[in-house]
Amino acid sequence: MNYCTNCGSKLEGNTAFCPNCGQRLQGLPAEVEESRAARREQREITRIQEEMKDAKENYYGWSVTSGIVGGLGIAVIVAWFMADNRVDWYIPAGIGGIAISIIFVGISIYYWQKYKDYKNQL
Ligand SMILES: [Zn+2]
Repeated sequence: MNYCTNCGSKLEGNTAFCPNCGQRLQGLPAEVEESRAARREQREITRIQEEMKDAKENYYGWSVTSGIVGGLGIAVIVAWFMADNRVDWYIPAGIGGIAISIIFVGISIYYWQKYKDYKNQL
């Protein structure tokens, strides 16, 4: 006498499903298991592609944002250097601004590179 692995009720004969709770009692045919495995694999590939797409969009966003911030910073500093009436204490501020702008442009280039790498992989 066999018993259901799920609900424990007695099983008559060689049934594929428990008549009481519907628990599957036998392995499915090989081709069904294979197509399930293939579907799982396809889902995994789709999931990775989605993740890469998200990463690509994030990299693109960071690249553009950093580029704009860095570019604006440089534009402001260039305008400041060209102005006649700048005050002495603005000099360290200007140098700090240049450094920050260069860092942002660097970040922009870094993310743009990553974005391009991801784009090529898709
Ligand atoms: Zn059962």
